[in-house]
Amino acid sequence: MAFQMFVFLLVFFLFLGLMCLGYLSLPDHQPSHSQAGRRRTMVHRLLKPRTPLDCPICRLSSSGVRPAPAPVRPWCEVKSRRGAPKRIHTAGFACPNQQCAYFGITDAHIHALVGDGKHGHAEQIQTFRCQACRTTFSARRHTPLYRLKTPSHHVAMVLTALAEGLDPSAAERVFGYRQATIITWLSRAGQHAQSFHEHFFCHLQLPYV
Ligand SMILES: [Zn+2]
Repeated sequence: MAFQMFVFLLVFFLFLGLMCLGYLSLPDHQPSHSQAGRRRTMVHRLLKPRTPLDCPICRLSSSGVRPAPAPVRPWCEVKSRRGAPKRIHTAGFACPNQQCAYFGITDAHIHALVGDGKHGHAEQIQTFRCQACRTTFSARRHTPLYRLKTPSHHVAMVLTALAEGLDPSAAERVFGYRQATIITWLSRAGQHAQSFHEHFFCHLQLPYV
């Protein structure tokens, strides 16, 4: 009886071992692990770059410092010395063409801006032209008055009244402009004031205060 039991257990464990070996040697058993591993590897590589230096955007966001622009040769040294001297004051304005080497440069001794006549019906608005890339633009570009047909002193008068506390609906009755127009002027002036504040009054280095 004991011998029969021993033989039965031997056959049972032998059969169990053969089943385990057969399961491990199945063809679709090992590739599932490799596919899952490959998928995990792809997700890992897509979501987690190895270092911030792998991506220029990550590099900028991690450092918080923009790369220094390449030095630009002043336009007065590039152009010919012949021709009439510049008569229009161009300091504070910059070429709006991002492909231009003088893009964003407001220094009149470096940029290539000259006056290019005036435009406008209600009042004369200065036009500038970049001699490097031949782009022309209005002096009112990037200001609240850009493409407004109302004279600037009328807009200033209405906005001053709003700053004093006049309601836009009351300003419509007083000045004769539609309330939607007045609110558009107000929102544009507010956005410009916010940009002005962020540019000149944020991130100041004040060691003596
Ligand atoms: Zn330009």
